[in-house]
Amino acid sequence: MTAHGQRARGGAHRKHTSPVKNRVALVAIATGTVTGAGAGGAAVATAQNAPTPPANAPQLQLASQDAAFDAIKQFTDTAVPQILAIPEFKPVEDLALQLQKAVDAHAEQVAEDLQARMPATVRPAEGVFTSGFGARWGAMHNGVDIANALGTPIVAAEDGTVIDAGPAQGFGQWVRILHEDGTVTVYGHMETIDVAVGQHVSAGQKIAGMGSRGFSTGVHLHFEVHPAQGAPIDPIPWLAERGINL
Ligand SMILES: [Zn+2]
Repeated sequence: MTAHGQRARGGAHRKHTSPVKNRVALVAIATGTVTGAGAGGAAVATAQNAPTPPANAPQLQLASQDAAFDAIKQFTDTAVPQILAIPEFKPVEDLALQLQKAVDAHAEQVAEDLQARMPATVRPAEGVFTSGFGARWGAMHNGVDIANALGTPIVAAEDGTVIDAGPAQGFGQWVRILHEDGTVTVYGHMETIDVAVGQHVSAGQKIAGMGSRGFSTGVHLHFEVHPAQGAPIDPIPWLAERGINL
């Protein structure tokens, strides 16, 4: 039995209801009985203000009703199998597909909600701000320094894709992350690295442990921000615009 077939039969039953009721009422009128099962029929007859008919009138009416009933029954009995016979109608498989689509859509919505609740930008490491962006010791310092204990977690400042992870001149080791708008953030001097090139990372995800490798005088994170076009910029206003104050 298919869902479509059940609907068709339900419709057929409703069509039968009215003729059957009328037949019960008319039988009650014919017999003139108000006891037992006939009481209901008598009530219907009263409601319809049906006068007491001649002895043979209900017989004629009953035959007429029977003809209508049989006509409807014949129509629906032949119509239902025709509906069922449609070969390409596969409601069960379609239902499974629809359910899967609904489940997928819900999962997508949950993922979007979770993403929306994640901070877009986070502080790349906890610690003491020890050096700013700009000229220093006769050279350009292209980022900011945040000092803390060896192994302090360094996290991705924003969502992005790791484009470098390993040894680099001056940095000892570095990680570079490319973000959606083309900005690249750079993290230097780390003792350990937790990510690999090509890996997608989320804002706040640990990417490394703080160290003092390369050109460094103490354990700290060296953090740079490179916009899509142009030279590195001061990370402090870049972070401040995104709600983060070092
Ligand atoms: Zn530095």
